[in-house]
Amino acid sequence: MKMLVCVKQVPDTTEIKIDPVKNTLIREGVPSILNPFDGYALEAAARIKDKDPESTITVLCMGPEQAKTALKESLAIAGDKAYLVSGREFGGSDTLCTSYILAEAIKEIEKTEGKFDIILCGKQAIDGDTAQVGPEIAEHLGYPQVTYGLEAFAEDGIIKVKKETEDGAMIIGIQTPCVLTFTKPSFDPRYPTIKRKMAANKANIPVLGFSDLPDIDPEKIGLKHSPTHVKKTFVPQKKTGGIKIQEESAEESAKKLFSMLSDAHVI
Ligand SMILES: Cc1cc2nc3c(=O)[nH]c(=O)nc-3n(C[C@H](O)[C@H](O)[C@H](O)COP(=O)(O)OP(=O)(O)OC[C@H]3O[C@@H](n4cnc5c(N)ncnc54)[C@H](O)[C@@H]3O)c2cc1C
Repeated sequence: MKMLVCVKQVPDTTEIKIDPVKNTLIREGVPSILNPFDGYALEAAARIKDKDPESTITVLCMGPEQAKTALKESLAIAGDKAYLVSGREFGGSDTLCTSYILAEAIKEIEKTEGKFDIILCGKQAIDGDTAQVGPEIAEHLGYPQVTYGLEAFAEDGIIKVKKETEDGAMIIGIQTPCVLTFTKPSFDPRYPTIKRKMAANKANIPVLGFSDLPDIDPEKIGLKHSPTHVKKTFVPQKKTGGIKIQEESAEESAKKLFSMLSDAHVI
């Protein structure tokens, strides 16, 4: 199985601080990490490789030079090869442009590495939080997709994905090539070994710039060509007040809540 995992480097916080004037992220003083959901995608790929050691895991990131740190961490965990897509032409891309650039980079890498069977992404990045890039990559490539994956298995010539649902989980079969996005599973992702960490530190990570993607349409990338413009970003004020229902038992509390909602014509 040939797999490619898309990883993003994000600020190490869920408490995103926004510059109130520029509406951009304040990154100063906030260390960067590998997006946790991408760690789950990497773990899913590693589990497929555990069962089929012939499998390969390529890791891809778009970002500035410093994003190589996230790629090296991915190599230390499970990746075999890593590529960085970087260039000022790509700067300010929204999710549509980002997914287009990543899809074009995947096609370019496939020219030398061969076709990937599975493209794995995190469900969402903890900074932008849109959860759009994975599904958009699938659309750009014309591949089927399964989102909210917990685990994936290669079985009987197809990929079976255990997918989170509102009620629990379900298994969906999908043909390759496909795109899968992953959320937090019940198990912890593996840690890098010292040996892999040392090898990752020495790894040469090729950088694909604008001129390395000859088929890319310059009218579809960067801030200028991004259809989304973030006008304002803010942290909502915490609401105070509210009503506490605390009856003798959970059942009685539920009954009280039901009658209150019913009286208010909410249900
Ligand atoms: C606070 C904030 C708000 C934003 N709001 C919007 C918005 O409303 N609309 C919009 O279009 N853009 C928005 N952006 C820009 C957006 O973050 C970037 O376009 C980003 O490159 C991709 O979007 P995301 O972070 O939401 O990724 P998501 O769609 O949440 O990421 C899903 C998965 O895609 C993969 N992925 C995402 N980015 C990369 C990357 N650079 N390299 C490799 N893999 C990647 C990862 O596997 C990731 O887990 C916002 C950014 C910030 C910081």
